Amino acid sequence: MTITRAMLETLDRDDMLAPFRAEFDLPPDTIYLDGNSLGVLPVAAKARLRRVVEDEWGRGLIRSWNDAGWIDLPSRVGGMIAGLVGAAADEVTVADSTSVNLFKLAAAAVRMRPGRRVILSEPGNFPTDLYMLQGLSGLLGGAIELRTVPADAMADALTDEVALLLLTQVHYKTGHVHDMAALTARAHAVGALTLWDLSHSAGALAVDLNGAGVDFAVGCGYKYLNGGPGAPAFLFVARRHQDQAVQPLSGWMGHAAPFAFGDDYRPAPGIRRHLCGTPPILGLSALEEGVAVMARADMGRIREKSSRMGDLFLALVEQMCGPDCFGVISPRDARIRGSHVSLSHPDGYAIMQALIARGVIGDFRAPDALRFGFTPLYLRHADLWDAVAHLADIMRTGEYRQERFQTKTAVT
Ligand SMILES: *Cc1c(COP(=O)(O)O)cnc(C)c1O
Repeated sequence: MTITRAMLETLDRDDMLAPFRAEFDLPPDTIYLDGNSLGVLPVAAKARLRRVVEDEWGRGLIRSWNDAGWIDLPSRVGGMIAGLVGAAADEVTVADSTSVNLFKLAAAAVRMRPGRRVILSEPGNFPTDLYMLQGLSGLLGGAIELRTVPADAMADALTDEVALLLLTQVHYKTGHVHDMAALTARAHAVGALTLWDLSHSAGALAVDLNGAGVDFAVGCGYKYLNGGPGAPAFLFVARRHQDQAVQPLSGWMGHAAPFAFGDDYRPAPGIRRHLCGTPPILGLSALEEGVAVMARADMGRIREKSSRMGDLFLALVEQMCGPDCFGVISPRDARIRGSHVSLSHPDGYAIMQALIARGVIGDFRAPDALRFGFTPLYLRHADLWDAVAHLADIMRTGEYRQERFQTKTAVT
């Protein structure tokens, strides 16, 4: 069946999520297919940041830690994110970056499994996940080994040597979704703990951490949660582990009594021990607004729309560019595909630059992946038509071969 733009406009008219678009400050003449990398600015975040800067910081100064509730922001925003990932409010907090949280929780987990020397992950996982664990392994003098095995060999690689299974639920490049519940159950069957990276899941699909029995999780604030560039990240520790899990970055904000100023570290009870230093208030304030918008939307509808958008996008690429123009890296089955689709092409970088020059913004992941993210709160179905029409035109005319699209920038 041939897809027409009119069909997509009909879908937009019937879209229950359509009103959310007005809550985002979208640049004109732009089709933004990169909300999986940096979410769009929520309108409410602009006013909030102005208030935090001018009133709370400018006028309130140090008093705002109490008067404006700054000190409670990590747990407050954590509690809101908990509602998006199937956790209880006191199991999630916001701190540091995803990278740092991975380090803290992986270290806490291996301490809970003395005698086991393996952390299991998969090759091609998001680089920072592997790098941080290589750093942890080095720090521990090689007492812990990071072992990577392909997804289809994961179940067999889970043996009683394994202390921790670390996986990203939705793969950053392919978009493939792991069966979190099944792999967690399998890890538990051999006595291992699990740490799931939800960077491409939170705000994109319904996550049920407690339903899956997950032990630890981390995730990103600046992607689908629209928290802004470099937004702080979140972390989850299941309540049953909160008394045993001790993380090594034992800063004063995770102390049981930070304002007693004692010499010896004593971890706070509960999730607060996973804070390290002073919380970044500007970033947390913006993130709270991003999460607040997401929390009002129905996650079932979000997932349904993004799955449909992924299917439509793939069909449109085939229809307008031809069946052999691109390879498809992502699963075609929407049930095991996250909220983005990746195509492959040897000239992928230049093609993406040519698209961006036309105001269609996706990104490129080496060596050859063009990545397109679908964010149902602010994208319209008809945007897909317009985006793929540009892509087809660029391919037909060979526009991407121009010299100006060949030079690599620092951030792709
Ligand atoms: C985006 C992303 C991160 C980001 O880590 P930072 O410390 O915020 O730079 C980590 N893991 C995955 C899987 C990601 O997609």
